[in-house]
Amino acid sequence: MKFANVEGRLALVEAAGEDTFTGADVAHASGDLLPADPAAALWRWSEVLDWASAYDGPLDLTIHAEQLGAPSPAPAQIFAIGVNYADHLAEAGWDQPEVPMVFPKLLPALAGPCCDVALSEANDDWEVELVVVIGKPARDVATEDAWDYVAGLTVGQDYSARTIQMRPKELPQFSLGKSLPGFAPIGPVIATPDGVTDRDDLELTCSVNGEEMQHSRTGHLVFGVAALVEYLSAATTLLPGDLIFTGTPSGIGATRTPPHFLSAGDIVESYIEGIGSMRHRFVPKSEGSMPRPIIPTLARQA
Ligand code: ZN
Repeated sequence: MKFANVEGRLALVEAAGEDTFTGADVAHASGDLLPADPAAALWRWSEVLDWASAYDGPLDLTIHAEQLGAPSPAPAQIFAIGVNYADHLAEAGWDQPEVPMVFPKLLPALAGPCCDVALSEANDDWEVELVVVIGKPARDVATEDAWDYVAGLTVGQDYSARTIQMRPKELPQFSLGKSLPGFAPIGPVIATPDGVTDRDDLELTCSVNGEEMQHSRTGHLVFGVAALVEYLSAATTLLPGDLIFTGTPSGIGATRTPPHFLSAGDIVESYIEGIGSMRHRFVPKSEGSMPRPIIPTLARQA
């Protein structure tokens, strides 16, 4: 099953074309038994799944990609994992870490699957990643139970302003350079783990202006989804709606010869098998405006 955030409301959807979906509004179709807000629905995910499994009504909404927001619009925590593919470790020139290398991406970076992103003008780069969406509170979860805590999978981009990411030179802290506005887009949908061909081995690609830059499979992750849920839940409590960006394969711009960074007008397409595609256009920093409010509580105060 696939779920999308359609202009702030949760919808059960099916792909109907490259940029089009058909769907049912979950709150309306459930007679308001379930919440419209996708963030609230992630706290009641087992009820959402039970309802969706039994739903035999129409998918009569036509939804265009431009209407989609981040399918988990208000995560309490956004984790990201560094150097988690062997080929990316090699291109970065690092040894494989003994445990996952974890950093946060900050909430104002969150964005949807189809929008403009303002350049930082600090060597902006792409990183297509499988993103895990947590579906129930998780603390000290064992690997074999970990998938029970996963609401679903989505496509993410860990956009990175390399100049900022690598500061200060002797003690770089990745978070800031990967948290500029729009630098953590996810979408187009949350696909349930049983709705993809193999939840542990999905093809993923990233292209820039139609040229393929990254192409791998999530089966090559050093620390897979279950291992990451175990590791993170041993340190902290994962909450419904939380996101885990699982790391990117080789093919980033910074390690190319010569390095290749994003420019105004560039179109980045990010794809994962069984989930779908995102498309972002980079625009000059001067044209970057404040993103649409994506955090319901802040939007209400605005
Ligand atoms: Zn990354």
